[in-house]
Amino acid sequence: MSSGTTADGAGWSRERILGTLEALRAHDLPAHGGRTLAYVYDSGLADADAVGLEALAMFAASNGLDPTAFPSLLRMENDLVGWAGRLLDAPEGFVGSATSGGTESLLLTVLAARESRPDIDAPTMVLPTTAHAAFHKAAHYFEVRPVLVDVDPVTYRADPDAMAAAIDDTTVLVVASAPSYAHGVVDPVPQIAAAAAARGVRCHVDACVGGWVLPYLDDAPPWTFAVEGVTSISVDLHKYAYTPKGVSLLLHRTSALRRPQYFASANWPGYTMLNSTVQSTKSGGPLAAAWAVVHHIGDDGYRRLVAQAREATLALADAVAEIPALSVVAAPDATLLTLATDGTCDVFTLADEMLARGWFVQPQMAYRSMPPTLHVTLSAATAPSVPEFTTALREAVEAAMAAGPVTVAPQLAAMAAALDPATLDDAAFDGLLQLAGLAGADGDLALPERMAPVNALLDVAPPRLREALLLAFLDRLSRPS
Ligand SMILES: *Cc1c(COP(=O)(O)O)cnc(C)c1O
Repeated sequence: MSSGTTADGAGWSRERILGTLEALRAHDLPAHGGRTLAYVYDSGLADADAVGLEALAMFAASNGLDPTAFPSLLRMENDLVGWAGRLLDAPEGFVGSATSGGTESLLLTVLAARESRPDIDAPTMVLPTTAHAAFHKAAHYFEVRPVLVDVDPVTYRADPDAMAAAIDDTTVLVVASAPSYAHGVVDPVPQIAAAAAARGVRCHVDACVGGWVLPYLDDAPPWTFAVEGVTSISVDLHKYAYTPKGVSLLLHRTSALRRPQYFASANWPGYTMLNSTVQSTKSGGPLAAAWAVVHHIGDDGYRRLVAQAREATLALADAVAEIPALSVVAAPDATLLTLATDGTCDVFTLADEMLARGWFVQPQMAYRSMPPTLHVTLSAATAPSVPEFTTALREAVEAAMAAGPVTVAPQLAAMAAALDPATLDDAAFDGLLQLAGLAGADGDLALPERMAPVNALLDVAPPRLREALLLAFLDRLSRPS
């Protein structure tokens, strides 16, 4: 792409800029239309989208740094937290904060848990193996060691007895998901929260993806603040509240539980820095957009949207049962569906075949004893096209079976298993990226049309090597133009 200004230094016209932006996003996955079944959430409601974008623009330049300078933002934050509190059965005295997303909500959850126990030198947290990777990020940032507990091998739900047994004197936090991202099932929150409460430990329910869905279902298992022992819950508005990206809510049962999440510094000559979340200066745009969309859709609207997405999920699960080679990994508790293949084809080829047919489904790699799978997030906007999706899936399975399961050369697999990423230098990573198909012979990074061979190799790489390789890839992608 050409540089940001013309040769004479003049700025670009509006037309040129918008034309360039349109051209740039031609290669992006579509955020609307219901054919992208991960990353994006589409209500299919044009009016809701429009009012959200107007609010986003209205408040783009406002600053949530100081709630006394922009009281409108505080009003909207408290209003959304109040709404969420009603959905999540929050008791008298609950509080909450708006954050930039699920990851920030979970970072703050772990930080607050750690800060609440300064008496523990080497704090730990008990996580089911299906807990979101954001907890591992928090572990890394805040030095709270994760203690991983295997989930039930059949239901993929956390094992409450094993989790209870894993709690010890260093535990500052116990986690459950409602539902888990990778398998779409709700953990047994009552047992887990009871075990945590019995030891005086905080229990967080990660409802980032399900928190705006489960309350509108009639048959959801118990998981909210109505469950004794649940101390905090995260729910992302930029997922199933269908708001523009950039807002999650973190609710605590009491303000005392939230207090260690806060930060202040008067230790410099400027304004006293006073932060409820990770960011300091933060745009009011996403918050205002969320406020607008939530009020526009309303409880009745969400109930309809959830019913559509839930029916689509169940219809798709039924359809999958009729497709040879495919199975549903775990009975879905919400609106996420996870699919696995038998030995006649593989999920990575299937993902490529679906993309070739205009559908994005997300490959998930093998982890511990869990097989590689395909992740499908059902938005309301996808609901009308479930029959079309099913046809594409049927065709994709036929193509993948005809091609046969993708294989990794045995020498390559053996090498991947033996490599210690800690011993590799930059040149070694360059070579590996080429071997993995993530770089051309000239070192140029260009993703191949078909990702299956790359994914299959990454799938056999131990997690540490996979992380290191992909970080090397990201590093090489992120260079100034
Ligand atoms: C999406 C998600 C997160 C992380 O949220 P981001 O908004 O992507 O940072 C955490 N937990 C669960 C269960 C999620 O689905």
